[in-house]
Amino acid sequence: MSAAVTPTIGGRHPGFGLRVRKDGNRALAVADADCPCGKFSEAASGDVDVEALVIRYGRHRRDQCSNPVIRAVAARQYAALQQSLNKRRK
Ligand SMILES: [Zn+2]
Repeated sequence: MSAAVTPTIGGRHPGFGLRVRKDGNRALAVADADCPCGKFSEAASGDVDVEALVIRYGRHRRDQCSNPVIRAVAARQYAALQQSLNKRRK
């Protein structure tokens, strides 16, 4: 591996949200996430770091975000995820 990889998804003004990119199994995963509240803006590369970023972004939106709309949406998404996980375990 050589130079640092920065996420390229969305170009220079990608807007808000989470973007993950991985071109095939052997490619390096890259991701970046921006929250509309402006308090969360991170990028990551590599499978482990990308996964950690996705989790941190989800937690920020659910627990720490200053925008109540974002928190409400994230709470619903978490509830739905939890439900599908529970179903799978049975
Ligand atoms: Zn936020």
